[in-house]
Amino acid sequence: MPDQFIGGRWTAAADGQRREIRCPADGTLVATVDEGGPKDAAAAVGAARSAYDDGPWPGTPAAERGALLLRVADLLVRDTEALARAESLDTGKRLVESVYDMGDIANCFRYFGNLAASGGTDRVVDTGQPGIESVVRHEPVGVCALITPWNYPLLQTAWKVAPALAAGNTFVLKPSELTPHTAIHLMRLLAEAGLPDGAANLTLGTGPLVGAPLTEDPRVDLVSFTGGLITGRRIMAAAAPTVKKIALELGGKNPNIVFSDAEFDTAVDHALTAVFLHSGQVCSAGARLLVQNDLHDRFVDELVARARRIPLGGPFDEHARTGPLISAAHRAKIAAYVETGLAEGAVLRCGGGPPQDPALRDGFYYLPTVLDECTPDMSVIHDESFGPVLTVERFRDEDEAVRLANDTVYGLAGAVWTEDAEKAHRVAARMRAGTVWINDFHPYVPQAEWGGMKQSGVGRELGPAGLAEYQEAKHVWRNTAPRPQRWFE
Ligand code: NAD
Repeated sequence: MPDQFIGGRWTAAADGQRREIRCPADGTLVATVDEGGPKDAAAAVGAARSAYDDGPWPGTPAAERGALLLRVADLLVRDTEALARAESLDTGKRLVESVYDMGDIANCFRYFGNLAASGGTDRVVDTGQPGIESVVRHEPVGVCALITPWNYPLLQTAWKVAPALAAGNTFVLKPSELTPHTAIHLMRLLAEAGLPDGAANLTLGTGPLVGAPLTEDPRVDLVSFTGGLITGRRIMAAAAPTVKKIALELGGKNPNIVFSDAEFDTAVDHALTAVFLHSGQVCSAGARLLVQNDLHDRFVDELVARARRIPLGGPFDEHARTGPLISAAHRAKIAAYVETGLAEGAVLRCGGGPPQDPALRDGFYYLPTVLDECTPDMSVIHDESFGPVLTVERFRDEDEAVRLANDTVYGLAGAVWTEDAEKAHRVAARMRAGTVWINDFHPYVPQAEWGGMKQSGVGRELGPAGLAEYQEAKHVWRNTAPRPQRWFE
């Protein structure tokens, strides 16, 4: 069966191209899938446009849209095993992590389903004038292009698809060309849940050939993108001539600030998951450890000792705690990043290359790596590696911690570790990041907004603002007793 879903029909790539998907853990062939191009992108936008302009979805009552999303959540739960397996084969990530992600994904559909089902967001305005009815309605934006990355393929997709549908939009989804399988599966579930034809469309292929045409097409009203900063800038520029709405979730070089009064064992433990979870291929990874001077040696010694013991392995290796990188090219990028850091004067404390274990030879593994004694003049402090590399800086006091933490073009997330609650809140208030954790790292809930300040992005996903991204406010004013104004008489 073809893999693209356009206008309710499974559709092969217009030019007949196909792509091999290989598991990054061992290079085995997962499957071949259709590889679309500009013609497929155009066809998918056409289908989404007609479904928006002439189809039933935008006018479906919000409560019914919500009910459909709740059915999708149930179907995601039903298919968790198959979805998690597909996600792990595409990304190389451990099966247990993919299973966990599927739970989060179902919750995301549930959250937006309930939000839509809980009633409209229309607001009656008191104009203070007799005979006037004034209502602000929230309508769908229209046709959305949803472009997603490979690190959390279905999770990032859910954060866009669920609110887009909750608000009554139609969409074209373009997942990363490296990890298409769970997006394909989701299309089946949306159809099974009863979504009208053309409301959800899926095109597969590369950024330049499928993603870029979506961002330029005048029939698209909104582009929501999650991915790298450079691509984000391109998308912003491509959307400019037609003044599309844009939502960008870009990268981060997220500071993890540890004060010397932090609870030692817990802070070390979380510093490891902050950066090495999913081999650092997490936009909110705590890849930048800022540790108070008097704690530095003891903290980094312990962290390095534990990092050396992290077992690497493929999706189905029960002993593994983290997996491979997504591709050979990405591993080469990480290796170059580490070389740069060393040339700039950082001290390699562990890792710094692929593992020697012959069992891991065919996968794109890279050892958990700690670069110590980093300083703000180094490029590795500012650039995102998106891999298992931790840079460590020292700070003297609260002011210096905040100054270093904010010395980045990014502003996605960060954490502060201290037993002093007042200090924690003072620092959190001064950090320029969309999410700040106090004595924790990584958790998020669909009820709370997620997104970046500065060059980490535009707009917010999740939470009420995550729904508002996909809505237009329309003010409808009714004069119940119109009379001539005689302005020009
Ligand atoms: P990427 O920017 O290379 O690709 C992301 C998506 O954009 C892919 O589907 C790709 O095919 C597409 N694309 C590429 N060029 C395009 C173009 N010119 N026009 C339209 N689409 C295009 O990113 P990636 O390597 O897949 O993902 C890693 C990056 O994503 C990291 O920088 C990471 O920080 C970021 N990320 C951010 C978040 C977040 O929530 N802020 C979440 C996950 C990943």
